[in-house]
Amino acid sequence: MKKIKAAIVNGVNQDYVLEDVYLDEPRANEVLVKLVASGICHSDEAFRLGEAPYNFPAVFGHEGAGIVEEVGEAVTTVKPGDHVVMSYAFCGHCPSCMHGKPATCAEWAQRNVTGRRLNGDGIFFKEDKETVISTILGQSSFTTHTVVDENNVTKIDKEVDLRLVGPLGCGFLTGSGTVFNGFKPEVNSTMAVFGTGTVGLAAIMAAKIAGCSTVISVDIHDHRLETAKSLGATHTINSRKVDALEEVQRLTGGLGADYVIDTTGLSDVMKTALDATAQGGTYAPVAVSSNELKFSPFGEIVASTKTIKGVLMGDAVPQASIPQLIEFFKQGRFDFDKVVKYFDFEDINAAANASNSGEVIKPIIIIDKEYKA
Ligand SMILES: [Zn+2]
Ligand SMILES: [Zn+2]
Repeated sequence: MKKIKAAIVNGVNQDYVLEDVYLDEPRANEVLVKLVASGICHSDEAFRLGEAPYNFPAVFGHEGAGIVEEVGEAVTTVKPGDHVVMSYAFCGHCPSCMHGKPATCAEWAQRNVTGRRLNGDGIFFKEDKETVISTILGQSSFTTHTVVDENNVTKIDKEVDLRLVGPLGCGFLTGSGTVFNGFKPEVNSTMAVFGTGTVGLAAIMAAKIAGCSTVISVDIHDHRLETAKSLGATHTINSRKVDALEEVQRLTGGLGADYVIDTTGLSDVMKTALDATAQGGTYAPVAVSSNELKFSPFGEIVASTKTIKGVLMGDAVPQASIPQLIEFFKQGRFDFDKVVKYFDFEDINAAANASNSGEVIKPIIIIDKEYKA
């Protein structure tokens, strides 16, 4: 086992604490990654703050980017020295994985949210070398080093700044993938996006790339709506000032939007988003939230032939989608760098607070300060 430093959450609602912990060796199909940086995703915070249950202690973080340091003997897709972005874990051989749908992997839950390896073994341990510290998404990136399954890493171009790209493994992947893979909108479609966090803004950028003619951003903060506009929203609605449903209908010729995403997870907003979906349209609620959405199936879904679609992790194959997003970024069509803010690893609590308060859209913690792009 290797002694490393990680930001641990020891119990629900507790702060991150930097601790010396032990990391197990990579097994045959695993990769040891030295982290350069990691985004903080709202899901990390949802688990830390108890909005969804988790096994503590835990090493959160699932938007990591770094350099491969060691690989198990069965690993074929990466080698030491490769630059990688990490995403979620999948088996690679179940029917869903074989059909190119790893986000619906039969082993998704076991590999991503139990906090352990598939056979129940831990990866991170407390100083006693026995107490298991849970992982998340088979990844855990708020740490100097981690061990992940080979399927969890996507090799990327070495020219790309590793400090920036970690969030392409979750937030930006989820938002863009919901559009590219979940909706596959026809050119000239209309889309409404509720919320302007990472996922919402990624959806807006993707909607523009996909050729949607009307891309409506709905939020309650004017400055966030300005950001949405700068990234591709054709219209913005401040739902504190005007009725969002009426306004979406007005902007879409009375029809409602063909595609609607809710990224807020708030019951009343999810309802407005469903109501703002056009007849025959598709609605995807994507927030990690335990709030309920109440509707009458016949009146609101059947009679209006609407579809409510579950899209997890943007239904993306990370190894295909992450390089694609980097390509869009290089072309100036996916300017996600405009919404990130860097923090030192030691300031991870401040970074998380800045995200929760809405002050920063995507905080990224710099773990390896020696790294130079
Ligand atoms: Zn996430
Ligand atoms: Zn699978």
